[in-house]
Amino acid sequence: MKTGVFILLFFLLTTEATLAQRECAGQDYSRTVSSAITFRDLEGFINTHTLQQTAGRLYKEVIKIPVVVHVLYHFPNQKIDDAIVHEQLALLNECFRKQNADTVNIPAVFKSLAADCEIEFQLATSDPNKRSATGIIKKYTPLGNWGIDDKVKFSSEMGDDAWDPKSYMNIWVCDLNKFAGYSSVVGGAENVDGLVIDFGAFKAGNKTIVHEAGHWMSLLHIWGDENCGDDKVSDTPKQASYTPGCPTGIRITCGNAPTGDMYNNYMDFTSDACINMFSNGQKARMRSLFEPGGPRNSLLTSKGLDTPLIFESPLPDDDPKWLEPHLYPNPAKEELKLDLTYDARWLGTTVRIINIQGNALMTVVVNAKTQTIDVSRLVPGMYFLAAKRTDGLSIRKKFIKQ
Ligand SMILES: [Zn+2]
Repeated sequence: MKTGVFILLFFLLTTEATLAQRECAGQDYSRTVSSAITFRDLEGFINTHTLQQTAGRLYKEVIKIPVVVHVLYHFPNQKIDDAIVHEQLALLNECFRKQNADTVNIPAVFKSLAADCEIEFQLATSDPNKRSATGIIKKYTPLGNWGIDDKVKFSSEMGDDAWDPKSYMNIWVCDLNKFAGYSSVVGGAENVDGLVIDFGAFKAGNKTIVHEAGHWMSLLHIWGDENCGDDKVSDTPKQASYTPGCPTGIRITCGNAPTGDMYNNYMDFTSDACINMFSNGQKARMRSLFEPGGPRNSLLTSKGLDTPLIFESPLPDDDPKWLEPHLYPNPAKEELKLDLTYDARWLGTTVRIINIQGNALMTVVVNAKTQTIDVSRLVPGMYFLAAKRTDGLSIRKKFIKQ
C-alpha cells in the first residue's frame, strides 16, 4: 500500500516540485565543449587587457549589449508573458550596475570591492535583417525538455537558431530538465554562443541569469571549480567550494582570513536572496573581452539597438491545434480516445493504465495519432494514464471510468 501511495503522490505532484534543487551546469557543459574553443590564448588576452583596464587606459563607456530571448514553449503555460522577460532584464541590469537594493547586505569586508560593472543589457529593437524587433521570440516546439547538448539553439533540432552572436547576446528559455542554466564558453563555436535558462529559474527574483551572464563574459565559479581553486580574479579570496543556502558571518577556508569566503558573489551557488555583488577584478575581467581583438568587441558596434530600417507589424503567433495530449471523453464508459496529433513521435510508445493503488492494469501500444483504448472491463473509479518516451518526455493524465 505504501508503494501505491507513493506512486499516487508522484502523479499528483507537479514536475516543479521534483526540480526544486538545481544548479548551474557550467562545469558539465565546459567539459563537453572545451575542444571547440578557437580563440587562441584567451587567458593571455584577458590578462593583458585586465591589467590595462585596471590602469584606466581602456574603453570607459557603459557597454550596451543587445539581447534576444528565444522562448521555446511546449505547453501553453510556458508561453511566458513579456513582463517576465522585462523583469529578468531589469534584474540583470540592476545587478550589473550595482543598483540592486540588496547591495546594503554586502558584508563590510567586501563593500569596497563591489563593482558597478557598467554593462547594460537591452532587448534588441532591430533584427539581423534590420527589421523591427521586440527582442522576444516565442516559438512552439514539439519537444518537452532539453539537455545541455545545445540542440535548443538550432531550428533543425526543433529549437531556434541564434541571431548573429557578433551583434547579439542570445538567451534561450526552455525546459532544461534538471538544470537551472548554463552558458556557452567564451571563444567557442559562434552558432551556440549564449545562455540557456530553465523556465523554473527564469522568474522574478531568480538570479540565474546574472550568474550565467557572468560566465558568458568569462567569469569562473568563485571557488575555481576545485578545492581552493583559482577563479583567475585577483580580488576574490580563494575559497574551498561552493556555498549552499544563505550563510552569515565570516567563513574562513583555504587560509583566506581575515575576509573569509566571498559567498555573496554572483558566481557562487548561494541562494538568490544572498548574492549581491561582482568584484572590481571580475568587472575588469569581463570588460577586457570588449577590447579591440577581444571575443566580445564586435558587440560595441552592433546595430541591434538601432532604429530598424524596415517596420513590419509582427505576425500573430499561431498555436498548433493541440499543445498537449488530449484525453476524452472523461468520464468514459466503453472507450477512451488519446489524441497525440501534436507530436507523431508518440507512435510506438506504450501507454499504461494505472489504478489508484499504483498498479498497472493494462498496457496499449500507440499505433494511431488518435489512439482508442478499450476501458469497458475496468471497474468504475479513478485511474491514471501514463506513458514515457525514450527521450524522457512523459504523459500523466487522470480519468474517471463510469
Ligand atoms: Zn555557474
